[in-house]
Parts: sequence; structure tokens; C-alpha cells
Amino acid sequence: MARLAEAEDTLRAIGAGEVDAFVVPDGNDGQRVFTLESADRPYRIFVENMRDGAATVSPSGLILYANRRLADLLARPRQDIVGAQLSTFVAGDALIVPRELRGLRDASESFEWELLDNHGTTVPVLVGVSALEVGGDDLTCLTFSDLTAHKSQGREIAQLSVIQAEQMADLQDAQVALIQQATHDALTGLPNRALLVDRIDQALSQAQRSARCTAVYFLDVDRFKHVNDTKGHAAGDIVLRRVAKTLTSVLRPMDTVARLGGDEFVVLAPDIDSRLHAVDLGTRIVEVVCRQPEFGDGEPVTISVGLAVSMRGRKNAETMVSEADTAMYKAKSLGGARAEIFDEALGKQAHDRLSAHNILETALGDHRVVAHFQPLVDIRSRTVAGFEALARIVQPDGSLLPPAAFIPIAEDTGLVVPLGERILGLACDEARRWPLQSELTVAVNISARQFEPGDLTMIVRNVLKATDLNPRCLHLELTETALIDIHPEVLTQMGHLRDLGVHIGLDDFGTGYASLTHLRRLPVTFVKIDQSFVQGVGGGRDDDRIVSAVIDLAANLGLRSIAEGVETEAQFDRLLELGCDQAQGFLFGRPLPPSAVAAIVESS
Ligand code: C2E
Ligand code: MG
Ligand code: MG
Repeated sequence: MARLAEAEDTLRAIGAGEVDAFVVPDGNDGQRVFTLESADRPYRIFVENMRDGAATVSPSGLILYANRRLADLLARPRQDIVGAQLSTFVAGDALIVPRELRGLRDASESFEWELLDNHGTTVPVLVGVSALEVGGDDLTCLTFSDLTAHKSQGREIAQLSVIQAEQMADLQDAQVALIQQATHDALTGLPNRALLVDRIDQALSQAQRSARCTAVYFLDVDRFKHVNDTKGHAAGDIVLRRVAKTLTSVLRPMDTVARLGGDEFVVLAPDIDSRLHAVDLGTRIVEVVCRQPEFGDGEPVTISVGLAVSMRGRKNAETMVSEADTAMYKAKSLGGARAEIFDEALGKQAHDRLSAHNILETALGDHRVVAHFQPLVDIRSRTVAGFEALARIVQPDGSLLPPAAFIPIAEDTGLVVPLGERILGLACDEARRWPLQSELTVAVNISARQFEPGDLTMIVRNVLKATDLNPRCLHLELTETALIDIHPEVLTQMGHLRDLGVHIGLDDFGTGYASLTHLRRLPVTFVKIDQSFVQGVGGGRDDDRIVSAVIDLAANLGLRSIAEGVETEAQFDRLLELGCDQAQGFLFGRPLPPSAVAAIVESS
């Protein structure tokens, strides 16, 4: 169709590799494209081997050329691509019309498209546009960079950051839990000692600027050990949680309830009007706890409270807690279920207790705990029947400390266990020297706490073996006030002791509130009537009738009766009349050191 000159130019252009395709009208208003395949042309080699897809598009949107990579991207043979409309291969509603292509070219920016491959899968691509002018015709060159890898990396990054955010949240949760753990008690969720001390210190420093009081309450559940022992630890835990809940409900939001461990709680009430108000609150705490329904089938849960008050923030946290603790001990010793306030006298008592404890501890270590022996006489024959071993501490200056100064603290702290073992050894060792045929008995006081380690029978058996003492000559005296709760385990141990052949009896009989129960349940063979009753014997008052009744009761049960603290002949005569078996008291002799015992034994 072209003129020769033009035809020559065209042929030269084809020869030079400058022509890719011919566009020819197809006779039906459409166009047809004929591509020239000459692989040897340098730029074509370059374009064919590009990492990106490339296409040349006619002004009407027809694809005139597509490289191999674009065919790969679209997963189609090249002949299906060349001659087709570009819009066929673009996903979404991006309608590619020539006008738009021009707009794209003018923007001369890259942008993102999604191509549609032969399988209907979308392929994200970054599209680059440039204009190409050939013989007055505006062609558009497009390049397509595959973004699939980028996109999935981006997704991974997004996913990673989600995971990271979750991990961060977990970490924060763990941190919160750790702080909670370090400052709170696991069982009740209440603040622990560390947090409490911090809060008390804060309250005290604030109180320094005001004329207000700060009150600290030390709480201890009464007979909690009994609940744990008889109903199990799970029941104990329930009691503790219940107490914690009750306390929290009755106090102000500004107050702190903390658990120190075991059955011990501390309440901090800052900003209180006066000492009187502080005491009121203590009483109220006792009341609400005691008002709770009783636990299971058992007795109601009660609590002992000690309180310490600071005016204007004087004192420190440690002092306040220890003062409240001391006051709590007083509340306990007064029978529990009550609140007591700390004062100077109590402070002195606490100090004395501590020094008594230290004195006893060092005396045990230095072998300065000794036994003195007080004779017991047979009332009918008025002859010595045996001795009771009574503990004494020899002080560094040689003077003697009586049991009243150290037995109560020994009971509290458990030092009574090694102390009791020491006296038992000393007593049996002494009794070994007495003539066999005399059958003199030696009585040793045993504290209820000595049953706790569970090895009392073994200790007694070993001592008997080591001293070769006739078991029948060993009398164990149990103070009955200490026997309010008789654990089945203690009963079993007493049975074993009886099996050894030793005698067990109740000391200070009549002073405990369950005397008769004890007589019935325990494997005892003697009772020692408390000296407070014996003093009134022969006086024609109630005491005389009580002593008389106890002697009869003992006789009827086949038990030996022993009167303690006999000081006068009148008392002795009356005891003889009443049929009492044995007597012990200053009338016959005071407790004596071992050196003085031999003389009495010989004369008996
Ligand atoms: P207890 O077992 O009832 O001992 C009798 C106490 O009464 C002794 O006091 C004794 O000295 C005193 N006493 C004896 N006759 C008379 C008297 O005619 N009039 C007066 N007013 N008192 C008399 P002690 O030696 O001071 O012992 C006191 C308590 O300490 C003992 O009472 C006993 O419960 C406890 N105790 C003593 N030694 C031990 C021990 O080794 N272990 C344990 N657990 N407790 C002990
Ligand atoms: Mg005794
Ligand atoms: Mg006694």
C-alpha cells in the first residue's frame, strides 16, 4: 500500500530491527497485529530477558508486544496475550481505556495493579509506565514487577508484629503477676508483710503532718491448730479465707488487711481520731469475726486481737507490728476472742519473756538446768514413798530460778521439750541410786507439748534402759489444764507409755475444766489434788468437800490420790481421815538438791 520510498524506509527499519509489529485494519472496524519475531536484535534480547514483565500497548489499549516474563506472570502463551486488550488481564474494575493510559503516562509514576492469570489467580504487580512515540503514534510501554514475594513478606511482617504484640501483652501480664506474687499472699490474695510494712511506713509519715492516730492490729485465729489438726488443712484454708473476707468487708477502703502467714493477720488503720476509737475498732473486728456462722459442726471461729497505736506518726512499722503482737499474746492468755491494747507494762512483760527465753536457752546449753527433789509420803505409814523432780535453773551467781520464771515461756516456745527430756534424764539417773527394794517412785512433770514430736515413748524407753530403772517406779505427771484438747495421737502415745509399765497421773487435778472427762478417757493411775483445794482441807468449807469427793472418786476408779501442798499437821490429819493415799508438801520437806536426797532415802 505504501509508496516505494516509504516501503524502502519500512524495509530498512525492519532490517535494522526497529519494527516489532504491523497493525492492520481487519475490515470490520477492528485491527489486527502482526508481530515480527527476530530474536537477534539486542534490545529485544534485553527486553525478553528482563526480570520484569514488559508490554507495548497501542493508544486503543491493544497489547502490541509482550515479553516472556509477562507471559509467565499471566500463565498464558504469548499469542493469547499479544493482540488482546490490556484490560482483559487486569483484575478489579480498573477499566483501561486509552484516555486513562494517557493519564497514567502523564503521571509517570509507578502504581500497583493486580493482574489476572490464566487460572483466575491475582498477581500483585508494581506497574511502571513510559511513553513511546513511533511515527506520530503514541505507544505506551508498561513494565510489571511481581510483588507476590513482597506482599507475603509484608503479611509475615504484619503477622510477626501481631505475635510480638501478643508476647508483649503476655510479658506485661507476667510482670503484673510477679509483682502481685511478691506483694500478696497466695491463699487469701491479701497484701503480705512486705507490702504491709511499706503501707505502715507511709501512713506513719503522713501522720507526722497531722494530729491523727495510726492503729495497727495483730490478729490470730484462736485454736487454729486444733482446726487444722482435727479437720484437715483444707478446712483450715477455708477458715483463713473466710476471716480474710470478713475483715475486708468490715474495714474502710483506706485500711489495709494483710496476712503474715499461718493464722496471723495484720490490719493497718491510718487516720484514726483517738486511742479510744482505735480500741473500738479492735473490739468490732473481734465481734464480726466471732459473729460468723460456726465452721462445719465445730465451735465458732474466734480471734484474738492486739493493737498498737501511734500518735503523730511516732514509732516505726516494725515496732508497731511487734507491739500489736505482744498485745495479741495478752488477749490470747486472757482466753482469746478479745482485743487488748499495747501499753508500757505489756512492753516490760514482753521484754521479760524474751530474756526468760534467752536465759533458759543458755542454761540448757550450759547444763545449768537441774532437778530438785521433793519427797512424797505415804499417809497411813507416814514414810517416804518417792520424790517429785522439779526443774530449777542455776544462775551464774549460784542462785536458783524457780519454774514459774521459765516454764510458761518454755511451753510457748517449745523449749519445754528439751527441758523435759533433760529433767527426765536427771530424775531417772537420781532414782537409780536408790535401793532397789525400797521401790521409791520418782515423779517427772510432762508438758502436753512433749507429745508433739511423737517420740516421747522412745525417749522414755531409752532413759529407762540407760538407767535400768523399774518402769513402775517412774511416774509421769501431766498438768491437766494443758490437756484441754486431747488429740487421738496423744491418747495413743499415752497407751504406749502405759504399756512400758510407767504410771501416768493428772497433776493439779481440779483446776482443768474437763477433769472428769480426762479421768474417763486417759490411761491414768493417780491424781494429784491441786494445792489450792488442799489448803482449805479441814476448814469445813467447800474445799474440804471437794477434796473429800475427789479422794472418793479416785478410790472408786481404782486410782491413787495424792494431796499436794500439805503444810500443816491439821491438813495431814484430815487427809488421813478422808482416806487420801499420799501427801507432798513443806510439812515433809521442800524440794531438795540431789546431794540432800540421799540422806532422806537412807533414813526412810
Ligand atoms: P507441780 O508439778 O504442781 O509441783 C508442785 C509445786 O508446788 C512445786 O513448785 C513445789 O515446790 C510446790 N510446793 C510443794 N509443796 C508445797 C507446799 O507445801 N506449799 C506450797 N506453797 N508450795 C508447795 P515449783 O517447784 O515451783 O514448780 C512449779 C510448777 O512448775 C510445777 O508444779 C510444775 O507444774 C512445773 N514444773 C516444775 N518442773 C517442771 C518440769 O521439769 N517440767 C514441766 N513441764 N513442768 C515443771
Ligand atoms: Mg507436778
Ligand atoms: Mg501440782
